[in-house]
Amino acid sequence: MRFNGHFLELAESYLFSTIAQKAAAHVAANPDAAVIRLGIGDVTRPLPPVAVAAMTAAVAEMGTDAGFRGYGPEQGYPFLREAIRDYYGTKGVELAADEIYVGDGAKSDIGNILDLFDKENRVIIPDPVYPAYLDANIMAGREIVYIEGDESNNFLPMPDSISGKADIIYICSPNNPTGSVYNREQLKAWVDYACENEAVILFDAAYECFITDKGLPTSIYEIPGAKNCAIEIGTLSKMGGFTGVRCGYTVVPHDLIFGDFKLGKMWMRRQATKFNGVSYIVQRGAEAVFTPQGLTECRENIAYYMDNAALIAQTMTELGIWHVGGENAPYIWLKCPGGLTSWEFFDKILREAHVVGTPGAGFGAKGEGFFRLSAFNSRENVVEAMNRLRGLKM
Ligand code: PLP
Repeated sequence: MRFNGHFLELAESYLFSTIAQKAAAHVAANPDAAVIRLGIGDVTRPLPPVAVAAMTAAVAEMGTDAGFRGYGPEQGYPFLREAIRDYYGTKGVELAADEIYVGDGAKSDIGNILDLFDKENRVIIPDPVYPAYLDANIMAGREIVYIEGDESNNFLPMPDSISGKADIIYICSPNNPTGSVYNREQLKAWVDYACENEAVILFDAAYECFITDKGLPTSIYEIPGAKNCAIEIGTLSKMGGFTGVRCGYTVVPHDLIFGDFKLGKMWMRRQATKFNGVSYIVQRGAEAVFTPQGLTECRENIAYYMDNAALIAQTMTELGIWHVGGENAPYIWLKCPGGLTSWEFFDKILREAHVVGTPGAGFGAKGEGFFRLSAFNSRENVVEAMNRLRGLKM
């Protein structure tokens, strides 16, 4: 009997536990200070009323003889797959409902989709980025190649920075933590590269709903050729405030065929074997999110967060602090002033302004010296936090 030794290669993830410990110690030492948390990536606004009504109705339906449902289709009920297909239609992206697989959120699918790929593949991962891509591939023992984001490329690395063969390429746009968004030409360069090199792009669209600039792509399938090389993973977590409800989707186009390997068929088989679907109640709530009323209610919440993001970005500009993000994403990624490290800046603003943020070093080596502020909080707290930062000597 042997264990998976690759687990021993994982770096301990101290980021959020260290943040929580430091914040708790600060609160204990300063009981009168009102600590404001701009470190979280979780939404704070309540669910859209139309989704609440749909889920409530679905619960009642399940309590009747006629409306009770047991196991549903592993890939999702047709009503939700069709609603997601129509949502893509509003972006000018034509998909078939059976190219869309409903799941319990992006994080699960980001890890689970790797079942389709051999362990020998080389994986391209941006640095800095959402840490789940890295850890999921370390667990599987794959070779990882970083592509580096920095000030010179606005934290948007391009294919020319890849050395050697790429097999699996992660793209997160809008990016967590930097809030940077690839434009159409940049995404086209990625699609062309993947098609020419027989690589597969795993496109994480978790924050697509925050893109307000009409010129920026919200789906990789807006780029010609992407259906031949890309899987897209979406979620209702940020869009509909479903972080605690759990619903997402993965798009595996019919055209993703490599010799004998039909990726949609493989994913279907994988899901049917290891997953039993998302609850009917949640899928009814998700369907409601994609109705015109649902989209209106979601966009009100998104606009609220984006007004917060604008306030944060504006404050950084006033303070002369280099930053990206905050325009089409709920994150502002700033360069720590005075040459401080991520953790030194964390300690400074906690100590002097009672504000909690997220040190960039937690998202990869290239995040050192940078810092993430999140727009997920109340307007009052964001205004107060920015007033406090303005009062600091930086
Ligand atoms: N992808 C990115 C880039 C994220 O930042 C997050 C969560 O913060 C996720 C995926 C996970 O989303 P979900 O709640 O759908 O699992």
